[in-house]
Amino acid sequence: VKQSGRGSFAFFHPEMDEEARRRRELERDLVHALEQGQFALHWQPQADAQSGMIRGFEALLRWRHPVRGDVSPTEFIPVAEATGMIIPIGAWVLRTACAEAASWEAPLRVAVNISVAQIQQDGFDVLLRETLLATGLVPERLELEVTESLFIEDTDRALDTLTRAKALGVSVAIDDFGTGFSSLSTLRSFTFDRIKIDRSFVSEIEKSDSAAAIVRAVIGLGQGLGLPVVAEGVETQAQLAALNAQACDEVQGYFISRPMPMAAFSAEVHPARSV
Ligand code: C2E
Ligand code: CA
Ligand code: CA
Ligand code: CA
Repeated sequence: VKQSGRGSFAFFHPEMDEEARRRRELERDLVHALEQGQFALHWQPQADAQSGMIRGFEALLRWRHPVRGDVSPTEFIPVAEATGMIIPIGAWVLRTACAEAASWEAPLRVAVNISVAQIQQDGFDVLLRETLLATGLVPERLELEVTESLFIEDTDRALDTLTRAKALGVSVAIDDFGTGFSSLSTLRSFTFDRIKIDRSFVSEIEKSDSAAAIVRAVIGLGQGLGLPVVAEGVETQAQLAALNAQACDEVQGYFISRPMPMAAFSAEVHPARSV
């Protein structure tokens, strides 16, 4: 038991020390990961729910740690966000995703996850414009995936930046929809181009009536607002069928494809090889 600064007591378990140590090590190693070429992008298709035709790909960051092997983004992205490393890492993701997508033969959409800290950063719109110019990607093919947490702090600034992104021709999707505390007002504060229903609802669609009702309501909301809806985390045929029954526009998930390096996609889906 240690006494904390405020005079209250906290318990420390060995596992917590271990966790804190791992986090500090990741923090330290993240600083060199970029220059040492340890990052790569994997791609996950976003497909039309009815036809299965691929409409776009989401870029998902992968970190191959020299000692630990693959570290999950759910673990290192929060560390990168907390230390500010997400700024150079995020710029690398944006540039690499746009450059890769510019080389595909099929002009499909490329979706890139953007952290709050990136949007709040001065000159994100300048970075965006320069990246599009440098890579030659048509702005209309780029979609930024942002979460509702963007609208908790400094909302005006975030809205400003996103509005400038849209003026360039870039589209904006609201990610993990339904998990924030103000989903509906978020939709009124900005004209999004797409809604992504969070996996937590999709995975429960058959087991839970309330999850099914929420999915139905979000799809209806999208229809009412004229926004296409993507369901994330579709893992089974039954989930796909349930989503199709609700006229969900697009689906993404292991049932369609796991995220993979672009080169691993077969000839039919590989946008660089399709005609
Ligand atoms: P996200 O944006 O919600 O991305 C979807 C996550 O769900 C990905 O995890 C993906 O691999 C996983 N997923 C896709 N389909 C299925 C499925 O059918 N079942 C299950 N169980 N999972 C599925 P991943 O790649 O581990 O990324 C986790 C999160 O890390 C992302 O969640 C995103 O918030 C963040 N992230 C990933 N790459 C980037 C990036 O380049 N920049 C930023 N800022 N965040 C990123
Ligand atoms: Ca996403
Ligand atoms: Ca998501
Ligand atoms: Ca999610």
